[in-house]
Amino acid sequence: MSFTDPAKSQPVSCPQCGTDVEQTPGRGKVKRFCNPSHGRSWRTRMRSAGWL
Ligand SMILES: [Zn+2]
Repeated sequence: MSFTDPAKSQPVSCPQCGTDVEQTPGRGKVKRFCNPSHGRSWRTRMRSAGWL
């Protein structure tokens, strides 16, 4: 485990359900959702609220 990427050293919780999201060490983008379906429903909610 390295802490060279500050974005990944922060704990992330899923905006949809509040569960801690485990980050994959190394390269790749920061995961924000505990599973893809939560990401999808979150985006749907934001869009229906007029945020997108
Ligand atoms: Zn979730």
